[in-house]
Amino acid sequence: MNFQPVLDEIDAELRPLLGQAGTVARYIPALARVPAQQFGIALRTCHGEEACAGDAAVPFSIQSISKLFTLTLAMRRMGDALWERIGREPSGNPFNSLVQLENEQGKPRNPFINAGAIAVADRLLSQGDAQRDILALMSDLAGEPIGFDEEVAASEAATGYRNYALANFMKSFGKIDNDVTPVLDVYFHQCALRMTCLQLARAAAFLSRDGAHPLGGQPAVCTERQTRRLNALMLTCGTYDAAGDVAFSIGLPCKSGVGGGIVAVVPDHLTLAVWSPALDATGNSLLGLKALELFVAKTGLSVF
Ligand code: GLU
Repeated sequence: MNFQPVLDEIDAELRPLLGQAGTVARYIPALARVPAQQFGIALRTCHGEEACAGDAAVPFSIQSISKLFTLTLAMRRMGDALWERIGREPSGNPFNSLVQLENEQGKPRNPFINAGAIAVADRLLSQGDAQRDILALMSDLAGEPIGFDEEVAASEAATGYRNYALANFMKSFGKIDNDVTPVLDVYFHQCALRMTCLQLARAAAFLSRDGAHPLGGQPAVCTERQTRRLNALMLTCGTYDAAGDVAFSIGLPCKSGVGGGIVAVVPDHLTLAVWSPALDATGNSLLGLKALELFVAKTGLSVF
């Protein structure tokens, strides 16, 4: 199937809506000043064909989409032992909520809420230079150097009171092994990864290839079983408190971030990355979700 006309149509349909609704994330200046009137979409098929439209080559802050890749790294290194520290249930609460952690003795409900991603960062830090390992993974998957936006990382650290609270709370239950400050330094940096839609569609392509390296390199990124689990977690927990609605209306495993990006997977077919900075009330990109809805309507691709 030639996807380029599909992406061009989606871009043409959504561009007139830019700036009409939603708001850009405002909790740090570097995100608050990103112009809302941008939309990009890119895909990579499991056979390596690519298509892009709109602002697909503009780098943005991937924020929570990074949780997908740090989880991949941790699953690859630790296997099932990871799940002694982190659950796999949708939280039904905001991504930065503290309340469930007390009932669950400091064990986060899933790896895609902040507490879960901070616990993953702790695991990665116990195994080496986590920031270096994250950059190495992202650059290897995208096929070109990927970097952190140090201004975003510094602002996350300067304003991340709730993330400090989450990390300290988990530490009080003995669920974080390292000092809280270096763990959060990893977490704030992963949120500050800067990538384009095309780079993200490439980097996530192993999820549509049963774990095989996106660019055909060796070794595989993870096993087929781990890939299925990553996709399952994306479907159930990947879009904040809207995962049920997203499964209903789009029907694809997705992971979103407050920078306005969303990665979506059609297993055995392709990976998509969409970006538009204005968010809806659930913290997901408003036009990003619309673009995915249009894509499944136009192509009939779905996991259901
Ligand atoms: N960096 C933000 C935070 O930790 C969250 C990012 C996101 O959900 O995309 O509060």
